[in-house]
Amino acid sequence: MSASYGLIGYPLSHSFSKQYFTEKFEKEGISGCEYNLYPLDDIRSLPKLITENPGLKGLNVTIPHKESVLSFLDELDETAKAVGAVNCIKITSQILNPGSKNLKGYNTDVAGFRQSIKPFLEIQHERALIIGTGGAAKAVAYVLKEIGIDCYFVTRDKHGAKVSSYYSDKLFTYNELNEYIINAFKLIVNTTPVGMYPNVDGCPALPYQFLQPSHLLYDLVYNPIETEFLKQGKLKGTATVNGLSMLHLQAEEAWRIWNS
Ligand code: NAP
Repeated sequence: MSASYGLIGYPLSHSFSKQYFTEKFEKEGISGCEYNLYPLDDIRSLPKLITENPGLKGLNVTIPHKESVLSFLDELDETAKAVGAVNCIKITSQILNPGSKNLKGYNTDVAGFRQSIKPFLEIQHERALIIGTGGAAKAVAYVLKEIGIDCYFVTRDKHGAKVSSYYSDKLFTYNELNEYIINAFKLIVNTTPVGMYPNVDGCPALPYQFLQPSHLLYDLVYNPIETEFLKQGKLKGTATVNGLSMLHLQAEEAWRIWNS
């Protein structure tokens, strides 16, 4: 088998994906495959990238393209359609025209987040605050709604936030957060890049002083392993989960899709 895979997004300096797949190929004796990083600041460069790399069989998609990539795809898997965001593309040749490519979008963040959070959920996690309203936030909301957890988003700008009409009354800005709200939402999930390498000193602007040990803080950021957001939680005795397990699970799901 000879095939190449890769990651599009911008910036990509934080990404562990190339290392993950390169080690996987070595460990599992998968020959003829390579995984490369393609830093794309403008999603309109995607068609050129596909043309210039005819061996590409699959791409992962990360910040900030998970939603804007939709208009460049030929097909969408049902889950990706329901979420409204894509983080995995399967590239095949068109049956009637092998020279041109068919791009089908999937969302493997859904499977990754679902499997990674389930062991940590407890009875008090009946409501969740999702920090950020981007592509990963939508996958998180999809999973939590499916589990039966009531979700609200925290955004910098209620008017700019692109959430479905179901959530239009379930939005807070950072300065609206108070002791009552923090008490009522025992699960808090960071889906923003705040605190991600190289800006590791940052954390979402939450009133951390109101956290209690019954809270669970989940950070999708995995580089660094312990973000400032998680450190703030630990100081208050909360349970914490980083994004590493989700990263591995969504990568394995992407591999399964590319090879099925
Ligand atoms: P995205 O689509 O660009 O969304 C990020 C959201 O965060 C934005 O919509 C924005 O929401 C908020 N945001 C952006 N910059 C911010 C800032 N400076 N201050 C406060 N809020 C900010 O990105 P994404 O693809 O969802 O990824 C988000 C993060 O999750 C990245 O760090 C990514 O690496 C991580 N991630 C990890 C995994 C994993 O497997 N562990 C999977 C997916 C994503 P508002 O405009 O509403 O404030």
